[in-house]
Amino acid sequence: MRPYIRGKKSFTFDEVPENTSFEAGYLTSVNSGWRSVRPVINSAKCVGCEQCYLYCPDGVIAIQDGKAVIDYDFCKGCGICAKICRIKAIEMEAERK
Ligand code: SF4
Ligand code: SF4
Repeated sequence: MRPYIRGKKSFTFDEVPENTSFEAGYLTSVNSGWRSVRPVINSAKCVGCEQCYLYCPDGVIAIQDGKAVIDYDFCKGCGICAKICRIKAIEMEAERK
């Protein structure tokens, strides 16, 4: 894990901490059972700007081939990624069980 960057006035992407739990890198058990809504990424709109990756509090978003992807086993459905995406490439949809 790279050093935390809060407080630095400018930084490069190389200094940004790696995500914490994408595909269970750090979490050990699935925690998404209580989620009522889930973020759905429109990959045609996604430009890979990494904002959702940076702001997801659970570190469950990764950028693969220039597009954001979500690990649904660990996404808690908080909606922060949808709020932070400036081009509205993420929509929250009701969970289907
Ligand atoms: S914030 Fe939106 S455009 Fe940027 S990587 Fe995430 S989904 Fe894609
Ligand atoms: S809904 Fe919350 S936990 Fe799930 S990917 Fe978005 S920011 Fe991360």
